[in-house]
Amino acid sequence: MTLTIGMVAHDRKKADLAAWAEQHADLIEHHTIVATATTGGILRSALPNLAIRLVKSGPLGGDQQIGAMIAQGELDALLFFPDPLAAQPHDVDVKALLRLVLVYDVPAAFSPSTASALARSGLFDRQPTA
Ligand code: PGA
Repeated sequence: MTLTIGMVAHDRKKADLAAWAEQHADLIEHHTIVATATTGGILRSALPNLAIRLVKSGPLGGDQQIGAMIAQGELDALLFFPDPLAAQPHDVDVKALLRLVLVYDVPAAFSPSTASALARSGLFDRQPTA
């Protein structure tokens, strides 16, 4: 079964997410990634074979687009690396996204170590198609 995994990182965390994705390429490459524009561009450069669908940049509505996917049951997991030390112009969008993650209990990770823990859960393992 192919999952749809959201990926979003704030500017100073984008390198961490790209490094995590490279280290776990074998686990995520058979899934579909939906990423905010800048994050997705960096992921595409790091992993050209990854299937990445881009939404708008976070501050331009991308977080809300990913939130809408959660509300519609279209997102199976979210890797969101926020920057806890920088104010974000779209803070309300960030909060809304986190809120929907909780409302719909979407498996989510917010840092390299929690993303690795999620990976160790087996969530991203290739599932036989039913
Ligand atoms: P970006 O958006 O990937 O386009 O930078 C992420 C964000 O800041 O929410």
